[in-house]
Amino acid sequence: MRLGVDLGGTKIEIIALDDGGAERFRHRIATPRGSYRDIVEALAAIVREAEAALAAQNNAGPHSVGIGIPGAISLRSGLAINSNSTEMNGQPLKQDLEGLLAREVRFANDANCLAVSEAVDGAGAGARLVFAGIIGTGAGAGIAIDGKAWDGPQRIAGEWGHNPLPWMTAEEFALDTRCWCGRPHCNETYVSGTGFQDDFRRATGRSLVGREIIAEMIAGNAEADAAFARYVSRLGRAIAHVVNLLDPDVIVLGGGMSRIGVLYERLPAVVARWAFTDHFTTPIRPALHGDSSGVRGAAWLWGKAGCSP
Ligand SMILES: [Zn+2]
Repeated sequence: MRLGVDLGGTKIEIIALDDGGAERFRHRIATPRGSYRDIVEALAAIVREAEAALAAQNNAGPHSVGIGIPGAISLRSGLAINSNSTEMNGQPLKQDLEGLLAREVRFANDANCLAVSEAVDGAGAGARLVFAGIIGTGAGAGIAIDGKAWDGPQRIAGEWGHNPLPWMTAEEFALDTRCWCGRPHCNETYVSGTGFQDDFRRATGRSLVGREIIAEMIAGNAEADAAFARYVSRLGRAIAHVVNLLDPDVIVLGGGMSRIGVLYERLPAVVARWAFTDHFTTPIRPALHGDSSGVRGAAWLWGKAGCSP
């Protein structure tokens, strides 16, 4: 049995897949806040909980464990890097979790897991080059070529969240949007769900979560409508940059913001306006496996077409 874990900014999810890819167990908990040690222990605890449930189904372990994380495990130091859950950066996550679980644990970038899962049997099935962006607590992306993750010598391929917002307006240049990575105007600070909420708060003085802003927009609130229009413009420009560089066959979006249906009605026109082409026809689709892509891709880190470790 393969266990796949998706470590997100707000939730940790686990799935157990049998050899045929059928789901045998699934569970989700809230991500502990603030402490690296709490996160490591929560990861170990959710694996043990899954194994206890599988043992009760007469599937005795130990089972393989693959984990999708925001960021990566550095090839140079073996430490966690580039995570928007910044308490993990510089920590020996792989070593600590392997110690707690007494086995090898494979890690991959969560967006690479999304890209592979969607390229293998999801919204990008059959496409040669899939660009999969996560627009959730943070923003990242993975690139799958012929169903395999392209990660690169620094393991940062697809780290589009930390490119600057393209074609910024004078108003955007004036914003104080320094990213947790230390650089100004990263895409992540605009196109993530957190960025959407921050933008609404800057413009209105009101602190709402994304789904509340969307509910206000649907109810006809002008401030919420303007915030969403700014969001679509920024995400569209960020995607147009990707199209100019990679010209993917399919663009797949995952993460909390990807569940807003109206996004797919409005985005193509913005991308078409900014991409260097006279005809933009690339499909932009929500992840078919939705929130499950991350855990499925992580489980496949062991065995067949997994996201690369
Ligand atoms: Zn950044």
